[in-house]
Amino acid sequence: MQTSLQDTLLAAIRTIPDYPKPGIRFRDITTLLGDARAFRRAVDELVHPYAGSKIDKIAGIEARGFILGGAIAHQLSSGFVPIRKKGKLPHETVRVAYSLEYGIDEMEMHKDAVAAGHKVILVDDLIATGGTAEGAVRLLRQMGAEIVAACFVIDLPDLGGRARLEALDVPVRTLVSFAGD
Ligand code: AMP
Repeated sequence: MQTSLQDTLLAAIRTIPDYPKPGIRFRDITTLLGDARAFRRAVDELVHPYAGSKIDKIAGIEARGFILGGAIAHQLSSGFVPIRKKGKLPHETVRVAYSLEYGIDEMEMHKDAVAAGHKVILVDDLIATGGTAEGAVRLLRQMGAEIVAACFVIDLPDLGGRARLEALDVPVRTLVSFAGD
């Protein structure tokens, strides 16, 4: 019997209780990335609706969004844009402050990484409160990009991130969800 996509992905994601601080259940995708079949199925499924469309850039959020985003960019024949924590990019940047499920930080993108009118898909491993993804949306829109979608392997719907992005008119695609936080 063919295992469903959901079962394959859920079985490949490892949950670490109380990491990085007490009360957080960390959804670890390194086990999914290490499983050839699960990794391929996740990437194939995330790109499926966009196959054949012209997507100029995939924007990946540091660090797990780089791994998924690189594979997605390859599949869609798109360029890749890294969105990084502040101070890591060598050229001129645009910067935005954002809130995390566990803290506050700033992220940056190179000023010339996307051009006005570029069609962009945003990628990260997981959406929780949506603060990180919203920061990335603001950066990309500041440069005039058109955000076609934001894609995540994991949704934590109780934390409201999907609704927060949809309120910004960003279509959201996720593959599995976990109740609670
Ligand atoms: P948020 O900004 O609240 O949507 O948080 C999303 C970002 O934090 C993503 O880059 C995730 O990788 C990371 N993150 C937040 N919560 C978790 C969690 N429970 N397990 C794994 N990663 C998480």
